[in-house]
Amino acid sequence: MSTVYRVTPPPENPELAGGVLAIDLKALADNWRFMADKAAPATCAATVKADAYGLGLEPVVTTLWAAGCRTFFVALPHEGAALREILPEAVIYVLDGLLQGQAAYYGEHSLRPALASLDEIREWADYCQTQQARLPAAVHVDTGISRLGLSEAEVRSLAESSALLGAFRVTLVMSHLACGDEPGHEMNEIQRKRFDVLRAMLPDAPASLANSPGTFLGEGFGYDLVRPGIALYGGNPFASRPNPMKPVVSLYAPILQLRSLAEGETVGYGATWKASRPSRIAILGAGYADGYLRSLSWPANDGPAQVCIGGSYAPVVGRVSMDTICVDVTDVDEDFLQRGVRAEIMGAHITVDEVAKWAGTIAYEILTSLGMRYTRLYAPADS
Ligand SMILES: *Cc1c(COP(=O)(O)O)cnc(C)c1O
Repeated sequence: MSTVYRVTPPPENPELAGGVLAIDLKALADNWRFMADKAAPATCAATVKADAYGLGLEPVVTTLWAAGCRTFFVALPHEGAALREILPEAVIYVLDGLLQGQAAYYGEHSLRPALASLDEIREWADYCQTQQARLPAAVHVDTGISRLGLSEAEVRSLAESSALLGAFRVTLVMSHLACGDEPGHEMNEIQRKRFDVLRAMLPDAPASLANSPGTFLGEGFGYDLVRPGIALYGGNPFASRPNPMKPVVSLYAPILQLRSLAEGETVGYGATWKASRPSRIAILGAGYADGYLRSLSWPANDGPAQVCIGGSYAPVVGRVSMDTICVDVTDVDEDFLQRGVRAEIMGAHITVDEVAKWAGTIAYEILTSLGMRYTRLYAPADS
């Protein structure tokens, strides 16, 4: 895809004249199959919260369903309801748990809360009673991340309450890793052992501990179901190992203007960058309102941040503005320095993890920050 959008867009397609976000659904499907293979014999689900990490819920989940994925995790009940519209047969878990007073909404959309406290469990049990049905739900236990999940004491109380356990169906017991992206971290083994202790107190049910990085921790971490997110979307599941996933997201912004600067002239708000030689500067049509974070401004974190034009890298200079970024194209092939030519901001030459590093953040935040102004192009999975 890298070569396709580098060219000047056809004038008859004004939408493509601005920023373009290209999403490779075939790479997404390949990444899911790769994770499913890693996870086997455990089942591979998919985490699709936050609009499938910013990539678009509908194209992502229909692609994953076609690849064979049947279980999905969202964060919020309304995300679950949107997903239910698209996939009537899917199993859908809501990771934020049972939001207060919303049990009937979960019931209407056949959503399964990941119940994370005794309060939530009581509320779900009450709702099940009104429906006279043992509705399915996950029980989310905390094993050391101290985020959502029942404490050990709460698991004990639940285990002793046949009234609560009799009211609903535990279809999954789950927990979440704090340090899965660091394979050698002692927390992984500690959490796995705690998970086994807590699980043993609860009714026999399928278990799930692993997110994307957890899926690579190997023997003993896969349990019955893994629930990767970031790896499916091309992010590196490891903190410090090469990325085994295929890139899914490419981002292009057009050159709006080219200018020549004399030595000593400055670029952008705050005049933070000064030309140390006569320089060519390209102004690109994307900015922080599009999710190109302001922290990518020169000199960035371990930067400067780069874009790619005609196969050459060009550093981001000056501050990122709302709608524009400026790049130093002095060393870029003159053939590509034309108004309307596309710069790759992310894609074949620049990974989402590199952009994240320059911004001082993680790939998750880059993807979920992608703005709504891009024209989105989806390359189908079956082409
Ligand atoms: C977001 C999330 C996941 C997916 O994590 P990745 O690191 O993106 O694979 C899995 N489980 C829980 C509880 C989550 O919040």
